[in-house]
Amino acid sequence: MDCIFCKIANGDIPADVVYEDDEIMAFRDLSPQAPVHVLIIPKKHIASLDEAGTDGELLGHLMTKTCEIAAGLGLENGYRVVNNCGEDGMQTVRHIHFHLLGGRKMGWPPG
Ligand code: 5GP
Ligand code: ZN
Repeated sequence: MDCIFCKIANGDIPADVVYEDDEIMAFRDLSPQAPVHVLIIPKKHIASLDEAGTDGELLGHLMTKTCEIAAGLGLENGYRVVNNCGEDGMQTVRHIHFHLLGGRKMGWPPG
């Protein structure tokens, strides 16, 4: 399957990895939108949050590690976690990922 995040997960494409275990990986976004911009993904291919919907164990693991990664990157002042899902969510890479953004004050509402 021609999926860029699967290729990052299996090491075919290099990435600036900040965390990795058997199930998930976190790496810096190629086009950062904040001083800290990390993407957290499962290593197995799941296209979107919609498709992961019933896998609470994996989603819980992704979220608890996101929290730990934020702490490790010095985001004690706060941060934002974003999931873009599907067409209206403006998801561009069809392998589920959570954006961890921090290091500046975020705006609201999102565009
Ligand atoms: P989406 O718009 O799907 O929520 O987010 C996709 C994100 O993946 C974008 O922020 C984009 O900059 C990032 N991205 C796309 N291709 C690559 C890549 O090859 N490497 C890395 N590190 N990030 C990527
Ligand atoms: Zn994939």
